[in-house]
Amino acid sequence: MVIIYIIFYNMEKFEFNYCPMCSEKLGRKNIEGKPRKFCPKCGYIQYINPTPVVAILIEEDGKILFVKRKYEPAKHKWALPGGFVDDVEHPEIAAKRELKEETSLKADNFKFIGLYAYMSEINGPILMIGYNADRYSGKPKPGDDAEDVSFYSIDDLPDIPFVSHQFIIKEYLARHQMKKTVMG
Ligand SMILES: [Zn+2]
Repeated sequence: MVIIYIIFYNMEKFEFNYCPMCSEKLGRKNIEGKPRKFCPKCGYIQYINPTPVVAILIEEDGKILFVKRKYEPAKHKWALPGGFVDDVEHPEIAAKRELKEETSLKADNFKFIGLYAYMSEINGPILMIGYNADRYSGKPKPGDDAEDVSFYSIDDLPDIPFVSHQFIIKEYLARHQMKKTVMG
């Protein structure tokens, strides 16, 4: 398993100025070893937790499935299909849903590849969960939030905008003893 931990980041951007519970202006104090925003009126404390995101790797005959992203971050770039886990959804259910939404493919058999924690400048701290689906049904077709869907040979991968996706692909290829020539 690969763990990415970025020490230097700007967390202030993701902090509240006013209490989401009672609208009082928030203060800051050391709570459980960290300076955190807190509400002097109702006692609310803002803990900044990561948002879980799934990415799905489908590989077939040395080719990996990519979607061309319609929205930021990394608009118009090729990335693994995936997206945010919704409220209490199990990440495997999120993987199934996102795969269907973005590529029209149906899969049930998700195998865990790895977890990657990192900081997104747009979405804040992210916990990326990588899955492999080794069987699927249907024909790849772009959904509402994808511009295109395509398989790329592992010897000729596109420029992948997310480090977490690069790690998922590397981990998968290493585990399956497949050679890749493009990524460093
Ligand atoms: Zn409050």
